[in-house]
Amino acid sequence: MGTPDFSTLSRENIVDFIADIFARRGAEEYLGEDVSISEHMYQTAQLAEEAGASEELIVAALLHDIGHFTNEFPDNAAELGIDSHHDRAGAAVLAPFFPSLVTDCVRHHVSAKRYLCTVDPGYFDKLSDASVLSLKLQGGPMSEKSAAKFAENQDVEAIVKVRKWDDIGKVPGKKTESFDYFAPMIQRVVDSRRATD
Ligand code: FE
Repeated sequence: MGTPDFSTLSRENIVDFIADIFARRGAEEYLGEDVSISEHMYQTAQLAEEAGASEELIVAALLHDIGHFTNEFPDNAAELGIDSHHDRAGAAVLAPFFPSLVTDCVRHHVSAKRYLCTVDPGYFDKLSDASVLSLKLQGGPMSEKSAAKFAENQDVEAIVKVRKWDDIGKVPGKKTESFDYFAPMIQRVVDSRRATD
């Protein structure tokens, strides 16, 4: 599969475009964990599927860390509000193609960790060492006030689910489906947004 021309990125080729990123960049290290970034994303999606989640949520789980690759996206992505934060950056590059539930889960997956540390006793103890380290850089647990505001997001339940799968999708050597398995599902989710546009 060829790399689509940036200027022609569309709902027809976005799945191939993302497949190409996974193929070329997926073997990269995942933030100090013992799995690659694509292994982590497949595991997160598989956990969602095993939990009986909707296709939108499985796709959100699969793509939650796409923001680590936003330099692969068109230059004009910068105008969509991209910065060095991979959560917001990922949501921005997906926003033209995916339903808001997907982009909400991507946009808030880092904040969800900060949120859960505040509202869910025992959550912190389950985090990996790398995740505890990044928590500090991300601002630590939310204040009670911020947590109350976060809880008002209409998609908060879905956001928290993706976060919890994200936290445990880090098992070295675990067998998962690969991108080809998820591709038709991603396309259906893209098309579902088109249907309601
Ligand atoms: Fe992740």
